[in-house]
Amino acid sequence: MHRMDRLLEGLDPEQRAAVEAPRGPVCVLAGAGTGKTRTITHRIAHLVQRGHVAAGQVLAVTFTARAAGEMRTRLRALGVHGAQARTFHAASLRQLRYFWPRVVGGEPWQLIDRNKLRLVAQAAHRVGLSTESDSLRDLAGEIEWAKASLVAPEDYPAAAGRTNRDTPAPAEQVVKVYRAYEELKNKAQLLDFDDLLLHTAAALEEHGDVAEEFRDRYRCFVVDEYQDVTPLQQRVLDAWLGQRDDLTVVGDANQTIYSFAGASPVPLLNFPRRFPHATVVRLERDYRSTPQVVALANQVISWARGRPAGSRLKLIGQRPDGPRPAFTEFDDESLEAGAVARRVKELLDDGVAASEIAVLYRVNAQSELYEQALAEVGVPYQVRGGERFFQRAEVRQAMVALRAAAAHEPSGELPKVVREVLTGIGLTDEPPAGGAAREKWESLLALVELAEELVGQVEGADLPKFCAELDMRAEAQHPPTVEGVTLASLHAAKGLEWDAVFLVGLVEGTLPIQHADGDDAAVEEERRLLYVGVTRAREHLWLSWALARAAGGRRYRRRSRFLYGLIPEDHPASRTVAAKREPLQRRPKPQCRVCGSALVDARSIKLSRCSSCPSDLDEELLTRLRAWRADRARELKVPAYVVFTDATLV
Ligand code: ATP
Ligand code: MG
Repeated sequence: MHRMDRLLEGLDPEQRAAVEAPRGPVCVLAGAGTGKTRTITHRIAHLVQRGHVAAGQVLAVTFTARAAGEMRTRLRALGVHGAQARTFHAASLRQLRYFWPRVVGGEPWQLIDRNKLRLVAQAAHRVGLSTESDSLRDLAGEIEWAKASLVAPEDYPAAAGRTNRDTPAPAEQVVKVYRAYEELKNKAQLLDFDDLLLHTAAALEEHGDVAEEFRDRYRCFVVDEYQDVTPLQQRVLDAWLGQRDDLTVVGDANQTIYSFAGASPVPLLNFPRRFPHATVVRLERDYRSTPQVVALANQVISWARGRPAGSRLKLIGQRPDGPRPAFTEFDDESLEAGAVARRVKELLDDGVAASEIAVLYRVNAQSELYEQALAEVGVPYQVRGGERFFQRAEVRQAMVALRAAAAHEPSGELPKVVREVLTGIGLTDEPPAGGAAREKWESLLALVELAEELVGQVEGADLPKFCAELDMRAEAQHPPTVEGVTLASLHAAKGLEWDAVFLVGLVEGTLPIQHADGDDAAVEEERRLLYVGVTRAREHLWLSWALARAAGGRRYRRRSRFLYGLIPEDHPASRTVAAKREPLQRRPKPQCRVCGSALVDARSIKLSRCSSCPSDLDEELLTRLRAWRADRARELKVPAYVVFTDATLV
C-alpha cells in the first residue's frame, strides 16, 4: 500500500478532515484521548509527504518536554525527520542562541534555574520584605504569572485587582520586588524562563532582518495543548507567524490546568473567530480509554461549572470493555502507598510493562512516600518532573566524566564510548535489584540510550556533540526517558497515557488543594486536574485516598468533594476498606505442627514445632494426632489449636 494511504488509514473521518485540510489555519477542538496529538503528527507527515512543506520548515510546539519528546517519537515513526517539535521554551532558547550575537551582542546570557529563589530573596531583602522560603516561592510564582501574562511591574496592581488575585504581599510590595528582581537579574546578565520567550518575541518584533530570516526558515506552525497558552506564549507565536496563518492548533478547554500561571483557553475557543476561514474540526470518539474509564471522565467533567460553549463535548468510548475503576479508602497514607505499591507489583507480575504504569498525585511532595513504597517491593520507578533528572548526583557526575573524556579521547562509536565512560562511574551490565542503586543505574542507562538516539539523529555524532546535547537538555529541562513505573504530578501527566493509572491522595486539601478552597474558579481548575488524571488511563484506573496522614494518626481527613456521586453504590470497593496492618497481622499466627500450640520463640517458629513435641513423628502418626485433636475440639466445642497433645498417645 502507498505510504500516504497508510497514513490516512488509521484516522476517522473527522481526524482525516483535519489532516487533509489545505495549508492555513486549522483548529481541532476535542476531548481527551480523541486523537488530537495523533491528528497533528499525521497532519505534519501528510503535508511533508505530499511535498506541501519541507520537514525542516515545520515548528511544532507543546508544553512539556516529555510531550515534545513524544511528538518527536511519533513523527519519526511516521517517517518524518527534521521537523522541530519542542516546548515553547526550548524552541525560544534555540532561536535566541542563534540571534543573540546580532540583537544583543556577545554570548547569550546564562539561564537561572535553581538560583532563582536566591535572586528573589535578594530582591525581597532589598525592599525590606520577609524572606521565608514559602513566601519567596509565592513571590517568585507571582512574578512568573505577571511575566507570562505580559504585565509590567507598573501595571501589576491594576492587573492583580482585575483578575481578583490572592496576592502574596500587598500589590505595591510585589511591584517593588518584581522591579528589584528584574534589575538584579539583568545586572548579573541572567535570563529566567520567561525571558527566553520575551527576548525571542522582541527580537522578531524589533529586528526586521531577524524576523525575515526566521520566517523564511519556518513556515508551518503547530501547537498541541493550545488550551494552556499564556499571553506571553501567544505573543511569541504571533511573532513567529507575522502576517501568515499557516497554523494548526489542537486543544481541550476542559483540560486547562495552568490558569493559575496565566494560561487561558480563550485563544483556542476564539480561534474560529480570529481566522474565519479556518478548518474547524470536533472529535468525540475516545480511542484511548475503556468505556468504563470514559464514563467516569464524562461524569467528572459534566459537573464542572461555568464551562464555556465549545467545551461541552461528550466522549464516546471506542475500546472494548475493561475493569471498572476501583475506589479505595485507607486509614492512613502509608497504608495507601503500600497497597498501591503491591498492586503495581501484581500488575508487573501479570505482564504489564513498568512503562505502562503511572502513579499520579496533586503535589510533588507526595512522591516521596510512593518512591519509598515502590523501592520496598523492588519496583523500578522514575519521578517525572523533568528538572530533577539533571540534578541527580550520578547524572552530574556522569556529565563531568563525559566532558573530561571528550577532551581527551579520540571520539569511537558514540554509545560504546559513553557506556565505557559510565562504566567507570558504576554502570553495570545487569541492573541492581532495587532502591537507590537501581534508580542510579536507570539514570546512567538512560544516558547510554540517549547516545544511541543521537546517533540516529545527528550525522557524525561524537562525544563533544553528545556533551553539548546534554548541556542543552539540562538547560531546557528535557530529560531522557528512563524505564520504570512513572511517578508524576497531574500537571506533568498532561497529554500522556498509560495502561494502568493510580490517582492517589484524593482528599480535601490536596485535591482540591487547600488554597483553592473558597475560590470557585480555582476549585473548577482542580476538577479539571482530576479529569486530566482520569483520562490518562487506558484500562486500569485506581482512585484512592487516606483518612489520616500518619499511621495511627487521627482520621480527620475527608475524601475529595469530587468523589461524591462518582463511586457507584453497588461497587464492592466503594465501601470503606478497614485497612489491615500489613504484613504481620495478616499472616496466620505460627503454630506447632504437632500440638497446635502458639509458637513464640524464633527457633520453634523456624522448626514449626514447640520444644515439648517430638521431632521424629512420622506422617502417619501426625495424621492420627491431628484427627484426634480435631475430634477432641469438636467434643469440647473449642477451636482445634487450643487442644494440646495427650502424652499417652505419643
Ligand atoms: P489528550 O487530550 O490527552 O492529549 P489526544 O486527543 O491528544 O489526548 P492522542 O494522544 O492523540 O489523544 O490519542 C489517544 C490514543 O488514541 C493514542 O493511543 C492514539 O494512538 C489513539 N488513537 C487516536 N486516534 C485513533 C484512531 N483513529 N484509531 C485508533 N487509535 C487512535
Ligand atoms: Mg494530546
